Amino acid sequence: MKFVYDFHEGNKDLKDLLGGKGANLAEMTNLGLPVPPGFTITTEACKEFLREGTHVDGLDAQIDEHLATLERDMGRRLGDPADPLLVSVRSGAKFSMPGMMETVLNVGLNDESVDGLSRQAGGNDRFAWDSYRRLIQMFGKTVCEVPGHEFEDALHEAKVAKGVTDDVQLDAEDLRALVTAYKKVFAKHTGHDFPQDPREQLDLAIAAVFRSWNADRAVLYRRQERIPAELGTAVNVVAMVFGNLGADSGTGVAFTRDPANGEQGVYGDYLSNAQGEDVVAGIRNTLSLSDLERLDKKSYDELMQIMATLEGHYRDLCDIEFTIERGKLWMLQTRVGKRTAAAAFTIASQLVDEGVIDLDEALVRVTGAQLGQLMFPRFDLASSPESITRGVGASPGAAYGEVVFTAARAVEVAATGKPVILVRRETNPDDLPGMIAAQGILTSRGGKTSHAAVVARGMGKTCVCGADEMEVGSSSFTIGSHTVSEGDVISIDGTTGRVYLGEVPVRPSEVVQYFEGDLDPAQANDPLVFAVHRIITHADSKRRLYVRTNADTGADAARARRFGAQGIGLCRTEHMFLGDRRELVERLILARTEADRNDALAALQPLQRADFLDIFREMNGLPVTIRLIDPPLHEFLPSLEELAVRVAVQHEQGQRVEHDEQMLAAVRRMHEQNPMLGLRGVRLGLVIPGLFAMQVRAITEAAVALAAEGGKPRPEIMVPLVGAVQELETVRAEAEKIIASTVGDSGVEILIGTMIEVPRAALTAGQIAEAAEFFSFGTNDLTQMGWGFSRDDVEGAFFWRYLELGIFGISPFESIDTDGVGRLVRIAAEEGRAARPGLKLGVCGEHGGDPDSVHFFHEVGLDYVSCSPFRVPIARLEAGRAAVESEGSDHR
Ligand code: PEP
Ligand code: MG
Repeated sequence: MKFVYDFHEGNKDLKDLLGGKGANLAEMTNLGLPVPPGFTITTEACKEFLREGTHVDGLDAQIDEHLATLERDMGRRLGDPADPLLVSVRSGAKFSMPGMMETVLNVGLNDESVDGLSRQAGGNDRFAWDSYRRLIQMFGKTVCEVPGHEFEDALHEAKVAKGVTDDVQLDAEDLRALVTAYKKVFAKHTGHDFPQDPREQLDLAIAAVFRSWNADRAVLYRRQERIPAELGTAVNVVAMVFGNLGADSGTGVAFTRDPANGEQGVYGDYLSNAQGEDVVAGIRNTLSLSDLERLDKKSYDELMQIMATLEGHYRDLCDIEFTIERGKLWMLQTRVGKRTAAAAFTIASQLVDEGVIDLDEALVRVTGAQLGQLMFPRFDLASSPESITRGVGASPGAAYGEVVFTAARAVEVAATGKPVILVRRETNPDDLPGMIAAQGILTSRGGKTSHAAVVARGMGKTCVCGADEMEVGSSSFTIGSHTVSEGDVISIDGTTGRVYLGEVPVRPSEVVQYFEGDLDPAQANDPLVFAVHRIITHADSKRRLYVRTNADTGADAARARRFGAQGIGLCRTEHMFLGDRRELVERLILARTEADRNDALAALQPLQRADFLDIFREMNGLPVTIRLIDPPLHEFLPSLEELAVRVAVQHEQGQRVEHDEQMLAAVRRMHEQNPMLGLRGVRLGLVIPGLFAMQVRAITEAAVALAAEGGKPRPEIMVPLVGAVQELETVRAEAEKIIASTVGDSGVEILIGTMIEVPRAALTAGQIAEAAEFFSFGTNDLTQMGWGFSRDDVEGAFFWRYLELGIFGISPFESIDTDGVGRLVRIAAEEGRAARPGLKLGVCGEHGGDPDSVHFFHEVGLDYVSCSPFRVPIARLEAGRAAVESEGSDHR
């Protein structure tokens, strides 16, 4: 197998094999740019090395061959005592992993060739010894795991001994002495001398780069960035050029545009008389490129020309590393550069204006995750606030406020105009008023699909969950030695999960102001807002998926509509059973006779009707899926423990409160060990007579009322937790009767469909489709029941271990598990449509707003995704990207 490629043999499309750096060095070589000669050892060699542990058959011979070519090209031999060729050995994986892997410079130097190097450099002893000490330092640290600080200490001592502060003030003799000191450090830690054989140095350095692929920090970085572990790294062996040969030499990094905000115009840092790692290490203050223009106009002009060539060639922002050796410019690296979310949008739009790319390509070059980042207010961290703990960033944003521990207190304090952060061990539906009143929510238990997270995301409210170092009491919480009491101010970052003490200043998002309609992109004079507007408009023109929203109130529906929602995919009606209606729900649960129950239902019905009318009005003309009540009814009753204690105390005091006793009996009766698998959803509707009927009547009456106002309601009634067609048929038969007797001549048409969220429903979708006009995939429950993971517990409890072991790369509650749960979706979609052509298919679980999952739903052929209002623009963008990508374009 060919393991080594000369730079002339590669090109930019061979990143899998040559890594990003190697592929781009080859590309620049082919473009005729001044790249020092060299070769790349492939990722295949790395994989083989890591499999075998030490050795790759045939690699040595290939390195010999390419080294000979390099020596011929350079007219020098590696480590030749009289006139040495020196090389750098650099890692380079397919995806950039900055600072994660290893580099060794100046390979080929030893006690003899250091003099040869000095002669090459015109008798510059200082330079030669400086290069040698750098080799021992880097080689020691990287290849032999010598603690780096020991070298730094020795350098520091040399400076102190000489009474100087800057390493350039050390002369040749000082550096020669430093080499001796470094060698001692090396021998002390390795038990042998620094290797003098240049080829041995090279082989050891290559092996060290291979091994660095599996270093802890690289493994961690890959996991975070979702870079597959099996890719391996390539190794680039490149003839050394020197930026530390004097004032006419130097080294720098540059970007063809500003990677922070996308502004046009080159941007970079330069350091004269230095090697590359000095720039990165921030040892000295860097100069700007305009300083370079002053210092070395010829190299500067050439650099500008090369940067223009690279941008034209790659058709995107490039970042580069370069070195100037005695007035001669060399290119050491280029790649399509990383950038902030704002720069990604701005640059894509600029490149369209410049005629470099079309809108399709601009669209695939930005991501929903980047758009999401732009939509949340952010902390201004300039003041370096103190972070006291970290949880799961469950609903992005930045919020600060006084700590409160109960929903009631949140409402009270918020009413005085002060911002509050509601801190709970976990939240439940009772906390809703407090969550609405709070600026942000912080819990010590639960993950990204816990109640707190789901509800907060729905409201676009900042939430940090599962901060498990936190002990939450009734009027304070503690984290180690910190105690935070009610009334203290904290700040929480729902993106990073960080919790800060005190108030951290917050900036609002102009992108949200644009979506809200408060900023006109044409007038805003803000390139970012214009870019977002332009790209999302294009996404809308391309996407096949409709985007709906999950909303339970008129206000949420209205906001989602402003954000571009094309209807409601899930209205969770149980959210309408809370607050002051709770008493009616209790009456319903406690009802002993049919008459009592009917009374309670009759009292609820007008309230529900008003809720629905409000939503239908806001979504006039667009479909609104209303889900019949889903959760177990005991969620609406007081907790068993609290009630039992209360009644026991009453008994002790010789009192009997009949209402409490009845309630306790009811709570006991309804208590379930596994409520998620118990009496909820359609099961509840079949067991409590009149409950679903009341809701169906309220929906129909609300629709008729809107039609009478001249509106166009498009209700869709959805039955939750169906596992068998018979369940749906039973509900359907009753609903149809009610609808038929209520619509009159209003012209209102109501679809009846079901959630597919129980695995059995997915597997019998062909039967279920006979009774359903639409399916909406409830991927939260489908994931819960597909994996057997309790959605409220597992993320906080043990997912860290699963992620660590690589059992999955991301929580399946966050991004759909395409192999398992996704397969259920696919089966149900295919079998459902086969049974009922034209069956409408959507998804309303949390995955509906997850970028990767949106691509999957596009591919499976769903009609729409539904997500929380704030994720609507993200889903629009990703649905557009999915459509462009599946057109078979090669933009990615
Ligand atoms: C689901 O299960 O995916 C769903 C949307 O329903 P809920 O989250 O309300 O259980
Ligand atoms: Mg569900």
